[in-house]
Amino acid sequence: MSDLATLQWQIEMGADEAIADEPIDRFKAPAPAPAAAPMRAAVTSAPAADRAATPVSRPAPSAPAIAAPAGAAAIASARALAEKATSIAELEAAVRAFDGCALKATATNTVFADGNPQAKVMLVGEAPGADEDRQGKPFVGVSGQLLDRMMKWIGLDRTSFYITNILFWRPPGNRQPTTAEIASCVPFVERHIALVRPQVLVLVGGTSAKTLLNTADGIIRLRGKWRELTIPGVDKPIPTLPTFHPAYLLRSPAQKRESWRDLLALKTQLTSLGNTVTNP
Ligand code: URA
Repeated sequence: MSDLATLQWQIEMGADEAIADEPIDRFKAPAPAPAAAPMRAAVTSAPAADRAATPVSRPAPSAPAIAAPAGAAAIASARALAEKATSIAELEAAVRAFDGCALKATATNTVFADGNPQAKVMLVGEAPGADEDRQGKPFVGVSGQLLDRMMKWIGLDRTSFYITNILFWRPPGNRQPTTAEIASCVPFVERHIALVRPQVLVLVGGTSAKTLLNTADGIIRLRGKWRELTIPGVDKPIPTLPTFHPAYLLRSPAQKRESWRDLLALKTQLTSLGNTVTNP
């Protein structure tokens, strides 16, 4: 195979990012592990079976791990860390320190949030893509630019909305995140919502809607219908609107008509909450 064909094949397989300076020969026998490596504090209370599958530390950037450390221990650890955070800054630090989501090993950056955390509206998307992974900010690539234009139609920008994702790390090649990867991030996302306390939530795309609404229904059925979402630590349910993901709209521009309806419904809801763009 020519070098060009090899490169093409790698891109098709989803290996479209250089994540280390040197190639790693994964067929070589690994160096023997140091004896009695210390267990991470956050996972020591996990059952032995789960602990065995949980890596003890984040690998050095030049040698990314390939083992997936998800499972009950990762979720329990995420929940304990998330519950401890009493501010958005503490939560961000906890997410950055968390090693229980396998995606972190191949990502360049942790992508936490952008926009105004005081805003009435909080948007939750799916996962960072290549541009977001490079810049460390959600929705900065082509689909994010479309989302920004859509929000501008109803008079909102990143000073008047707050935005995050279900996953804080890019799935390699933008593949669909696994259930385990999502589950290890959800405790942080729920705590994030509880700390921001938005008056309105917008779930951008099927992964976000299905995960937070805990349903198997697809986005075509869910979009445009308001729900009341109960989040632990928030005293009353939050009006929540699922809508299409801008990446889907780029592929299916005819659906922009439905998204326009959702935006108008969002605008009406915000108008009913008063004229200010931020929480009192
Ligand atoms: N798609 C998402 O869902 N989130 C991003 O941050 C970028 C693209």
